[in-house]
Parts: sequence; C-alpha cells; structure tokens
Amino acid sequence: MKRRIAILGSTGSIGTQALEVIRQHPDKLDVEVLTAHSNSQLLIRQALEFMPNAVVISNESLYQRVFEALDPYDIKVYSGAASMEQIVEMESIDMVLVALVGWSGLKPTLKAIEAGKPIALANKETLVVAGEMVTKLAREKGVNIYPVDSEHSAIFQCLAGEFHNPVEKIILTASGGPFRGMTRDRLLCVTKDQALKHPNWNMGCKVTIDSATLMNKGLEVIEAKWLFNMDIPRIEVVVHPQSIIHSMVQFADGSIKAQMGMPDMRLPIQYALTYPQRVPSQFPKFSFDQCLQFTFEKPDKENFRCLNLAYEAIRIGGNMSCIMNAADEVAVHAFLREEITFLQIPELIEQCMSKVSIISNPSLSDYEATDAESREVATELIGSFRK
Ligand code: NDP
Ligand code: MG
Repeated sequence: MKRRIAILGSTGSIGTQALEVIRQHPDKLDVEVLTAHSNSQLLIRQALEFMPNAVVISNESLYQRVFEALDPYDIKVYSGAASMEQIVEMESIDMVLVALVGWSGLKPTLKAIEAGKPIALANKETLVVAGEMVTKLAREKGVNIYPVDSEHSAIFQCLAGEFHNPVEKIILTASGGPFRGMTRDRLLCVTKDQALKHPNWNMGCKVTIDSATLMNKGLEVIEAKWLFNMDIPRIEVVVHPQSIIHSMVQFADGSIKAQMGMPDMRLPIQYALTYPQRVPSQFPKFSFDQCLQFTFEKPDKENFRCLNLAYEAIRIGGNMSCIMNAADEVAVHAFLREEITFLQIPELIEQCMSKVSIISNPSLSDYEATDAESREVATELIGSFRK
C-alpha cells in the first residue's frame, strides 16, 4: 500500500524537496493533496506531474487561474485559508506534511491532528506558538508527530530503540550561520544579501534569516521541548560549523548518540515520510573524503541575542513564545524589505515581548488575538525605529 501524502506548502523549499523524495519512491509514496499560497504557476506544474486528488491555492485571487489550468483533469481545486484547514480531513490522506511557514501552519496542523492524521512537521513555528496545545491534542488523539527539522529528526533517530532509557540531555547543533564569529561592529552593517547566503543549507527566506540571527536555534529549542517532553535546562546548543552532526542525545549513563549525514533536507523529509522504514536514496551521501575535521564551539549569545530571547520566552511561558514568534516574523520581513537593520531584529522582538499583555493559559482564540496584537505592536515599532 502506498502512503498518500498531503503537502501543505508544496511550492516552498521543504515542499519541493518533499516532491523530489516522492518522485524517487513512486512505489511507496503518493501525492494526495498539494497547497500553495501565491505561486500558482508552480502549483499547476506540480499538480500536472503528480496528479493529486485536490489542490488548494490559499490566495483566493489566484483561484480562477488554477481552476482553468486543472479543469480538464480529475483534480479538485479549492481556494482560501479555510479550505486549507478543511482539506486535511479528507478520508484518503494517510499523512500530512506541514511545510507552511510561520503562524500559517498552526490551524491546519490542529485540524489534521483532530482528524487523526499522522503529521510530518517541518513548520517549527506551530510548536513555538502553541506547543503545549498541539502536543496535548496529539496525545489525546493518539496522533504521532514526526519531526522534519533536521535537528529534531536527528534526535528522533537517536532515540529509536531507547524508549525506556532515561535521557539526560539533548544537544542541538547549530551551523552558526553566515555571520558566525563576527563582532558587533561588523554585524552593524551586514546586508540582506549576505544574510541570505547560508554557508551549508539552501532554505526559504524566513528560516535563512532566522539562522543568521540564531533565532532559528531558539525556535528549535522550544520545538525540542514540546516534541520530546524535555525541560529547557536539559536542552543545550553547540555550534558545529560543518553541519554534518545534526544533533545528539546524552543518556543517563553518559553515552552520547549522534546522527550524521549531509546537510540535505531530503534525508529527514524522507525519514519522516517513510518512517519506520529506511529506504534507499540517490541523494549525495556523506564520506570522510569530503570532511575530516569536525569542530564545536559555544554559541555567541551576546552578539546573537535572539537565542536568549527564545530561552526567556519559554521560561515565561503562556503566550510569550507566540508574541516572540509574531514579532520575529514581522522583524524578518522588515529586514528583507530593508526597513530595519540586522541588529534591530532582536531589539524589535525584545521590545514587542515587553509590550504585549501576557496570558498564562491561552486558548486558540487567545493565541489568535496575541498574534494579531503582536504584529500590530511590532509594525508600530518599525515606524519608530525609522525616525
Ligand atoms: P518557504 O517560504 O520556502 O515555503 C513556504 C510555503 O508555505 C510555500 O509553499 C508558500 O506558498 C506557503 N505559504 C506561505 N505563506 C502562506 C500562507 N499565509 N498561507 C498558506 N500558505 C503559505 O519555507 P520553507 O520551505 O523554507 O520552510 C517551511 C517550514 O519548514 C518553516 O517553518 C521552516 O522553519 C521549516 N524548515 C525549513 C527548512 C528548509 O530547509 N527550508 C529546514 C528546517 C525547517 P507560496 O510559495 O505559493 O507563496
Ligand atoms: Mg533545523
């Protein structure tokens, strides 16, 4: 039996790489649903190649274009955010890959869990915003969440067969991004183009900028807490610039397991989509001919303040990580539009975290209100930064 996959965000970096994986395994994986937001041309091309049961274009103004292109085929076409949330309930879906970016992943993930669908989760922001709610619902519904993020996939792989063995700590590796080792003076004038050039990974814009600020690692600490039910003091970050060790787990006896491989997202994507099987892949494989030295260093938390902001947000709890996430999304987009500087990103997030009201046990509607309020506050702050 083939596993029928719904890819939410098929036109993005993770989405397109997931389709490369599926293309390699037509005997095991099938595309059931594809969704995109604005890239209607690519969505149409993907639909014509993979012939899914249905597609959703969440930007409603593009519906007609997609509908006309796919009308001659047996592919249903829907539009709007609500359709993306409903489509995951489709009976014929065996697994939902959430490859959306930012806040947009939260509600479709909750809906998919409600519908009892196993989740392959790339969208870390969903767990950052509402990790407690999402993981609680998944436990209640008996739904598994398979990590796609390379670090969390590594931890998941290290934990295989260790179910009854106590974990002492999780060690998340970070590449350090393009600005590793830079002083504050140099960081003052780094540009958007420099920030978008990640040394090891080729990813979407949001996660690339988050990697440059180290916010990505902060988001991943929170993601690890919820995925692996781990206290924050037991989640450590170490910089490993070669990006070959994707993360590690230390057990109670002191032994450390690490998972290694090329920095290629197709590997963790494939592991999540075909779990528990390891299936052969034709993607490049690691060899010690390419890299003989592995180095490690401590993250520079003074110049890259976002990592500590994330530790602070999860320590405070309630809706604070949701506030931080919204502020980060606004800050990253403002940086990409060249409205704020690189070092203003943590400043904006920190100020936003101090201005938006804290809610200790947020409901979904509280998260929605928090997200909206935080975006408003962050947008106003950008105005004040410019003066
Ligand atoms: P991209 O920006 O490349 O892709 C995002 C996808 O989501 C696109 O298909 C886009 O559609 C769609 N989308 C964007 N906004 C909306 C919206 N408001 N409503 C509905 N759909 C929307 O992101 P990535 O693939 O890089 O990242 C996806 C997630 O995976 C992120 O959470 C990221 O942190 C995580 N991740 C990514 C890694 C990577 O290597 N890229 C590595 C580890 C984690 P369209 O293009 O049509 O507008
Ligand atoms: Mg990662």
